[in-house]
This record gives sequence, C-alpha cells and structure tokens, in this order.
Amino acid sequence: MRFYPFVFTGNAPRKGNRAPLNQINCSEERDEETGYGYFGARYMDHELMTMWLSVDPMAGKYPSISPYAYCAWNPVKLVDPDGRKIWIYNYDGKGTNLRFEPGKTRPMGTKAAQEQIRSLNRMAQTDAGWKLIYRMDKLKDNFYISNKSTGTPQTSATTACSDGAMLKMNGNNDIRSIAHELFHAFQINQGQGGTTYYNEVEAYVFSEIVCNQYFSKPNAKGDFRCETAFLSRHPQTAEGKEYQDAMSKLAIGFNNKLFNRAVDLFQSQSGANATGIYDVAPYKKCNGNENPLLPSFYPSKKK
Ligand SMILES: [Zn+2]
Repeated sequence: MRFYPFVFTGNAPRKGNRAPLNQINCSEERDEETGYGYFGARYMDHELMTMWLSVDPMAGKYPSISPYAYCAWNPVKLVDPDGRKIWIYNYDGKGTNLRFEPGKTRPMGTKAAQEQIRSLNRMAQTDAGWKLIYRMDKLKDNFYISNKSTGTPQTSATTACSDGAMLKMNGNNDIRSIAHELFHAFQINQGQGGTTYYNEVEAYVFSEIVCNQYFSKPNAKGDFRCETAFLSRHPQTAEGKEYQDAMSKLAIGFNNKLFNRAVDLFQSQSGANATGIYDVAPYKKCNGNENPLLPSFYPSKKK
C-alpha cells in the first residue's frame, strides 16, 4: 500500500465575497475542501470510536491514507459516499472550510471555528451527540456550520440549502447551542424542517440530553447552564409545573404522551418563548409524520 505523507493538507486562502449558500449550488463548495488530508479515519462503531477518542491524540500525526479515501485523489469531482459531512463553514471567505472529524482538532481557522470544533468533539464524547454526528455523516447531504447570521437578528438558526443545511451560530458556539442547531439540521434533512413548537421541543430536549451526558463526565469543560426552554415562565401554576416536569423527564427518557404535552405547553409555558418568537411558526410538524426523531437518541435500555 502506498503511503502518502501530508500531501493533501495545503489550502489556498479564500478570496473575495461569497454568496449566501441558498444562492449558490452547495456542491460547488466541495471542491475547495479537497485540499485537506484524508487521514483514513473512517467511522468505526461507537465502542471503537470511544476507545479511539481516549488514545493518544498524537497518533493522528502518523496517518496513512485509507484505500477508501479516494476522494483525496480527485479534487475535481468529490464523491464521498462514506461520510464525514459536517463542515466548519467559512462564511466570510477569509480562509478555508474545515471538515469535522471526531476526535481531531484543527489548529487553523477562526476562533469561532475552533470553538465549533471543540463543541462538536465534546458532543462526540456523548452517546446522544455521537449518534447524531454518526448518522449525519452517513447521509448524502452536507451540513455546514457557519458563524454568521443573515437577515433578522437571530442568534442561532439552521436553514436548508441546496445540498443540506447550514447552521448560523452567530457567536454561540457552546456545546448546547451546537447540539440544538445540529439537531435542527437533522430535522431538515429528514423532511421535518421549520420553526415549529414540535421541532423546538425536540431540539431543546436533544441538546439537554447531550449536555447532561457531557457534563456528567468528570473531565467536562465549560459551563453547564439550564436551558431556558426547560424553565417555566409560570412555575407557580399547575400548567407551568406540568411543563417543567415534562421537560425534565424528557431529558432522561422518552415518553410520547409527555412529549406531545410538552409541545402543547411550549407556547405559553417555555421560558424560550417568553418573547413569543416561536409564535409565528406552525404548531405541529410540517410533514405530518407523527413519529418523533428524538427517541432513537436516548441510551438503549438493554442491560
Ligand atoms: Zn431551535
């Protein structure tokens, strides 16, 4: 087998302005990514990955290129059927896009890019976070994480683009925000896009599961804050108590009745909707699918 040293790590800096993703063909963006080395780190199953994350990170300094990584040989037509579809997207064009690989850090890119990679790696250390990253990387679509919000003064948002979805983090790059918005990207991919109470409850509960799992680790870094979505605006009322109780229980285990009740109560009770920002959205899911995406992200019960 041929060994390629770091032939593929050079990247030409971006020049000039770029159009928003929804005005361009996302697939054209891929060509610029091929400057990155493929380190042969195809996804393993969860157990293997956990082991790998715990071994010497410098092991990545001595890679060999996987025989499956044929995209690295073809910078014109990038075909990547086996995954790794999460990109740290450089919206301003002042540098390169970074392809996220769990367990690896990238000493380049903007401060925001570094924060996003850090949060993704923290996610990858959790059961729920790993499941999402793994599943997204198996998908055909690409997912882009940018640090720019456009239009309305939103803090973080996820929108569809022509080949996937883009997260616009706008400075909020903590693990909770990344997990929340990444779940929205997954919803979009699964035909469940749109700012609905339903989608919000799912994304809030998902990010809470990730945070609970990450911050229960003894080596966890960063701040744990209680998500406002979980705080009732009216904790003294029966409905307020019921909402908060439902959300707290959903963070531990899934229950369809509780989930639907939390969706019902989200509008009037959630602290996240105190200003009514979600009231412009439709109430239920867009696609009529009554099976939430959420249940498969809980720890399996087998013991
Ligand atoms: Zn949201």
